[in-house]
Amino acid sequence: MRKNSFSAKKSTRPERVFLKPSGNPLRDKCGIFGIYGKEVDVARISFFGLYSLQHRGQEGAGITVTDGKKLKSVKGLGLVSSVFDEEKINSLKGFASIGHTRYSTTGGNKLCNVQPVVLNLKDDVFALAHNGNIINAMDLAKTLPSQDKLSSTSDTEIMGWIIKNSKGKSWEEKVFTSFSQFQGAFSIIALTKNKLIAFRDSYGFRPLVLGELNGSYITCSETCALDTVGAKFIREVAPGEIIVIDEKGIHSLGKVRSIKKSFCLFEYVYLARPDSIFNKQLVHQVRQRSGEILAHESPVGADMVVAVPDSGTSAAIGYSKASGIPYGEVLIKNRYIGRTFIQPEQHIRDMGVRIKFNPLKEIVKGKRIIIVDDSIVRGTTMKKIVKMLKNCGAKKVHIRVCSPPVTDPCYFGIDTPDKKKLIASKMTVKEIEKFIGADSLAYLSLNGLKKASRVKSDELCTSCFDGKYPMPVAGGFRKDVFESEDTNLRMNPNQRISKFVD
Ligand code: SF4
Repeated sequence: MRKNSFSAKKSTRPERVFLKPSGNPLRDKCGIFGIYGKEVDVARISFFGLYSLQHRGQEGAGITVTDGKKLKSVKGLGLVSSVFDEEKINSLKGFASIGHTRYSTTGGNKLCNVQPVVLNLKDDVFALAHNGNIINAMDLAKTLPSQDKLSSTSDTEIMGWIIKNSKGKSWEEKVFTSFSQFQGAFSIIALTKNKLIAFRDSYGFRPLVLGELNGSYITCSETCALDTVGAKFIREVAPGEIIVIDEKGIHSLGKVRSIKKSFCLFEYVYLARPDSIFNKQLVHQVRQRSGEILAHESPVGADMVVAVPDSGTSAAIGYSKASGIPYGEVLIKNRYIGRTFIQPEQHIRDMGVRIKFNPLKEIVKGKRIIIVDDSIVRGTTMKKIVKMLKNCGAKKVHIRVCSPPVTDPCYFGIDTPDKKKLIASKMTVKEIEKFIGADSLAYLSLNGLKKASRVKSDELCTSCFDGKYPMPVAGGFRKDVFESEDTNLRMNPNQRISKFVD
């Protein structure tokens, strides 16, 4: 590691200007992957890295490579495996690349929003892959000179232009000088003609890790991607840290002051793969512990414990272990379709539930069943599962949820719906129990979940469970409003801003 090229200064946070609440949900969670290596096929490795991060975004994918002179990208809508083929991977020649898998929503699932975002400048190039959400994106857009025409509806592109316009001789210096202007969540991998720059917001909401593969360096969202490509885990990028990877190796430029660490607790609950490790904690074990704690907090007599696969599986194993009630499989999941956490349209959500799980009727019949799931967001999926099991002859259906009620929306890059669509924001646990038709319903306490994570309590973001945000968010930017259907709004920053401040 090289010594700091320039020292971290005190944050020069601009005055906050709050925009009116959009009334729409934020819906974006993404996986990012970057590699620098002269001796390897960086595009092919990026493909497999993104392939293992597919759970973080299934609606678009892209890879951008540099050969030292120019950047070349392949991007498309859909799964990583459908966007790329042998020919496209072979066309991406270079020694460093960044990639992105995207999850979006109504109005936002457009090719122009698929990342990496590439700024084509007169004499230079700069590309970014972003996981997170910039709350003050619209305020920042106001500061852009008019010549910086935005080609997408993405806060990431605004970030790119802000960085480009900032002081500094090199791109990393520009990243450093612009850093404190960005409010919200950002784990970013940027690509220039000859280097990768990885940086993470000072709160550390979204994960970002570093790895090594036979002298090549990798940075990506989760350690599972390092495992998939055969790389060794080095460490996490620290909150507020800027890392440069180039021909001299990997070096940290230091940290911008961290105000309060706020790692997303929901990564452990649902977002991350169980085989990933954050803060030295294997996600599978955190989930298993959460199931054990839940069994102690909310015991109930039953014949078997079953999981809503896959994100409920580790917790169900833990619940079974702690309760002594046998674990079994009842819901068979079709693994060849996307997730239904939040699908863009109601009719797709309805279909998603019907085609996603098939119950083993012969096993369910006459049994008292405990279903363990990671979370309940709207309650509609769980209601259908309960009905399905009762139709199969289940004697009792008890629901145990391995997270506290989700009561507030996320502003930090996760697609939780608007507060009024979150079932726990408008109903008590008893009312939800009645709504979903369960014989009993219990959630894990927030303290129980924090305990299961083994991360220091004050270093976690718990906002969607308790409404306590680590920074002011009222009226803050949410991607899906920005991603307007109206192309005029997309092409004219000033017009677009008026939409938010009126
Ligand atoms: S609000 Fe919830 S989902 Fe969003 S970062 Fe915080 S814990 Fe994660």
